[in-house]
Formats: sequence, structure tokens, C-alpha cells
Amino acid sequence: MKIAVLALQGAFEEHSKMLSKLDAQSKEIRQKSDFYGSFDGLIIPGGESTVMDKLLRELGLFDDVKSAIQGGMPVFGTCAGLILLAKEIENGGEHLGLMDIRACRNAYGRQLGSFAAHSDFAGLGEIPMTFIRAPYIKSVSGTAVSLAEVDNKIVAARQENMLVTAFHPELNNNPTVHEYFLNMCR
Ligand code: GLN
Repeated sequence: MKIAVLALQGAFEEHSKMLSKLDAQSKEIRQKSDFYGSFDGLIIPGGESTVMDKLLRELGLFDDVKSAIQGGMPVFGTCAGLILLAKEIENGGEHLGLMDIRACRNAYGRQLGSFAAHSDFAGLGEIPMTFIRAPYIKSVSGTAVSLAEVDNKIVAARQENMLVTAFHPELNNNPTVHEYFLNMCR
């Protein structure tokens, strides 16, 4: 199994480390030519959604990434990756705009910018969740479903080939969310 990790900016290295713990190969996508060739899924990491959007466009990767996901490639967006995939963003512009979720950016305010929680994730039991200036999902629609909530806010969702978490599963020692994604890629 080989997973592409968008490595333009943000927390991509931690994803590659988590993948290697699960015996999956990772391939860092730094430029357009890296996106050719075969892989089984794509991770869009946390970072800064506006910066990642700008780099995707500047490097000519934006349309390639969008159409690969539209064509059914499994994708896992964490935090800023969630924002990039959302069709609606409450306090920001649209980016890839592929998933029927309404995201709220920097939703926890300055003081609660970063925090840790434990909560149930559908089918995985209770897992640790690390939030860093995280968004949350205000609502899901269409075929999108909520997979986890913290304080009555949706923090993980799935729609067909797309998985998103507001938190950073790559920053904890618990590999279950990455395993869940690898199963989507099989
Ligand atoms: N606040 C960031 C954004 O709006 C997301 C933070 C993160 O990815 N840890 O893109």
C-alpha cells in the first residue's frame, strides 16, 4: 500500500511516520510531477488552509488533486485538510469544495486554540484527539455522515471516498484512524 501525503506545508511528516508504523509506504507530494505515478490514497495534512490552497494553485496541482478525488481516490484531510475539502466554510472562502460539510474555521477561539480530548469515533471506540486551532463541522448533508463529536460539535466525518478529522490523529500514538483510512484505500 502506498499513500501520497501532500507535503507543501504543515504537519505532513507525522503522517508519513504513522503510515510507516502501519507498514504502509508514503510518497510526499511536493510538486506536480510527484502526483503522477500510482498510489492508493492521499492525505491532506494540517497546516494553514489558505497557504496550502495558494501553493496547490501556484504549483498547478489544484485541478489534478480535485479531479483525482472526484474520480474516487480515497482522501483523508486533517484539520486544514478538512477545510480544503469542505463545500461550505463559514468564515473563509471555498477551496477544493468537494465534501458536503459546513466547516467553521478557527472555531474554538484563541484561548481554546489547542486542547486534547478523548471521545468515541464510530466503530473505533474511544480515541485521543489533539486539536490545534481546529475547525469543527457545523453540519453534514447529502451522503456525508458524522463519525465523532466533542462537546456536541462534529469533529470527524466521512462521505464515500473522503474522510476528515478536525483533530490530528498523527500526533497521538493511536494509529486507529489511519488504519481506518488504509481500509478505505484497500
Ligand atoms: N487554523 C488552520 C486553518 O484555518 C487549521 C489549523 C490546523 O491545521 N492545525 O487552516
